[in-house]
Amino acid sequence: MQLIRSIKKMQTLARELTASGKSIGLVPTMGSLHQGHLSLIDRAKRKTDSVITTIFVNPAQFGRGEDLKNYPLDEKGDLAKIKSIGGQIVFLPRADDIYSDDFQTWVNVENLTNTLEGKARPAHFRGVTTIVAKLFNITRPDLVVFGQKDYQQAVVLKRMTLDLGYPIKFVIAPTVRERDGLAMSSRNRNFSPDQRPEAICLYLALRTAREMIKSRIDNVKTISNEMRAVIRATCAKSKVDYIAFTEFESLKPVRKAKRGVIVSVAASVHGVRLIDNMKL
Ligand code: AMP
Repeated sequence: MQLIRSIKKMQTLARELTASGKSIGLVPTMGSLHQGHLSLIDRAKRKTDSVITTIFVNPAQFGRGEDLKNYPLDEKGDLAKIKSIGGQIVFLPRADDIYSDDFQTWVNVENLTNTLEGKARPAHFRGVTTIVAKLFNITRPDLVVFGQKDYQQAVVLKRMTLDLGYPIKFVIAPTVRERDGLAMSSRNRNFSPDQRPEAICLYLALRTAREMIKSRIDNVKTISNEMRAVIRATCAKSKVDYIAFTEFESLKPVRKAKRGVIVSVAASVHGVRLIDNMKL
């Protein structure tokens, strides 16, 4: 497995791989890898010759008061995990190299970032699209894999890929969950053992939505109210940020919930902000 920290070296290797006819898969991450991340690497491996996993905790996508300083780091553990599933290349750039003192060029997707997470976290997506565009330019992938866990992020990045004309196949991979349904996330380690069982409240709410649709209830308000009740009943120390029913790629809100619609939920659970979603 190759470990690369220099942007120049990464660019050179990417060019060499392409010149020798090898296809490149890219999986951008912020490290603290879990089975969800590994499933993306595995998917990229099955579709390309060389997979580049990037590990970079991107300061530009954290707002004030968000958890940049406390973001969990586990470089050694991450590298062992990537190696264990046969990941070939790991790119770990330094923040100073990515964002020089003079840095002043940003990539911004407009409408899609004004809703859901974009409303709750201003400037978050500008940070995400900028770093991913830079990673595209440095690694020149043929294919990239993102998780549906961060559904809006995937939709925004797909839009950016199309709008900027990157010749990259864009794959959105399903959410990997713990046994009890909790979507895997590096934030889950913030729960104490007592709190952890209650973290499934988002998943239970999403399942409730799915069941209601099956029973032919399609009123978004009725379903949202029931979802809120499920979250409250599962975790008294929770606060729902939003529940939204949207068309998959446009993120347009729908009036009636039906098959193919995505329901997303964001909530603070014992002080930990979680997001999850499900296609109905
Ligand atoms: P992060 O390290 O949180 O920035 O995530 C890196 C990539 O992993 C993103 O494309 C995420 O959507 C994806 N990801 C995070 N959690 C999961 C999960 N539980 N299942 C599948 N993909 C995930």
